[in-house]
Amino acid sequence: MNWPEIEERLYLRTFRRVPVTLVRGEGVRVWDDHGKEYIDCVGGWAVNTLGHCHPVLVEAIERQARTLIHTSNQFYTVPQLELARVLIENSCLDRVFFANSGVEATEGAVKLARRYGKLHLGGAYEVITVGHSFHGRTIAMTAATAQSKYQELYAPLPVGFTNVEWNDVEAIKAGTTSLTCAVMLEPIQGEAGVRIPDEDYLRKVRDWCDEKGILFILDEIQTGVARTGTLFAYEQFGVKPDIMTLAKGLGSGVPIGAILATEKASAFQPGDHGGTFGGNPLACAAGHAVMTYVVQHDLASSVKRAGEHFMQQLDGIIADFDVAVEARGRGLLIALDFKEDIADELTLRCLNGGLLVNRVRPNTLRFMPPLIISNGEIDEAIRILRTVLSSL
Ligand SMILES: *Cc1c(COP(=O)(O)O)cnc(C)c1O
Repeated sequence: MNWPEIEERLYLRTFRRVPVTLVRGEGVRVWDDHGKEYIDCVGGWAVNTLGHCHPVLVEAIERQARTLIHTSNQFYTVPQLELARVLIENSCLDRVFFANSGVEATEGAVKLARRYGKLHLGGAYEVITVGHSFHGRTIAMTAATAQSKYQELYAPLPVGFTNVEWNDVEAIKAGTTSLTCAVMLEPIQGEAGVRIPDEDYLRKVRDWCDEKGILFILDEIQTGVARTGTLFAYEQFGVKPDIMTLAKGLGSGVPIGAILATEKASAFQPGDHGGTFGGNPLACAAGHAVMTYVVQHDLASSVKRAGEHFMQQLDGIIADFDVAVEARGRGLLIALDFKEDIADELTLRCLNGGLLVNRVRPNTLRFMPPLIISNGEIDEAIRILRTVLSSL
């Protein structure tokens, strides 16, 4: 079967795909339709927390599929509340709402902040977001995502978002008005190429929000669920958000998103927000299996160690290859910058060598493998990358 040719005829032209059709996965490995094996350092875009087809996740999905797949939010269901309990017991937040994707979580977080603004801030509704951010692709979240390449295509965009400079608390202060109800940030910007702010930036933004009485929203869709070496990235910056969004790693591949909020920020009343599929038993059973595994096996600590090992290997690459200039990351959210725009070329050559990587910028590769990756598997990936770099 020539799947790329079939896609060319049938699918809306949205994705710039890498020329490979993946058909099977196990652990950190995947196989294509010709049986070729790859080490997966893309991890479904920081989604496959437990790797591919982890038996614990497969078993939880199978069991729930035989028990109850969907009911509607007219009724209480057990997996929804079991997942809620693990999330609340292991975070600084008090309440949760489940959606189906990341963008539904961020959009819902903004709705929650607007309700808070109506009730407590004299009708304030503006949300401040920062340059290079990524919050998803609905029309409203395109306005929140402060990057012209996403915004220009869809103008006019909804009002209510103020885009200011990243990593600059003074810019947030200058952008705050009597209409501001919240600031929304990613603790580490994933889509922008793994951008880590100054150590005290989030602390200063948190303090500013407190001073103004506005809400501090952290979009942890990419950084949450142990990806950066702590269960949530906010733990590393000494701040607590009023609202936090999760998605990518939460279901380890089963679509699910979540809005978490402190009691104070929980401004929704029955009827204010909802959804048909969000929080359904199947997705929540998956999320519960993932969260329970991550917490019980202290995956955050092993991610921290694996991330340090990965970074050491990348530092070795930088020492040996002039074209590689900087490695950044926390845990297993890592980027490698090059002097030249060779990330597309490298992605293709790595593919031929049996390694999946993500070209996040023209001159930057991103690595976000399953959190269960071993040092041996990291070394294997690094060997392939070294061979590819030597062949340039
Ligand atoms: C991926 C991502 C989103 C959007 O999630 P989708 O599930 O693609 O809608 C939002 N914010 C951040 C930080 C992300 O990484």
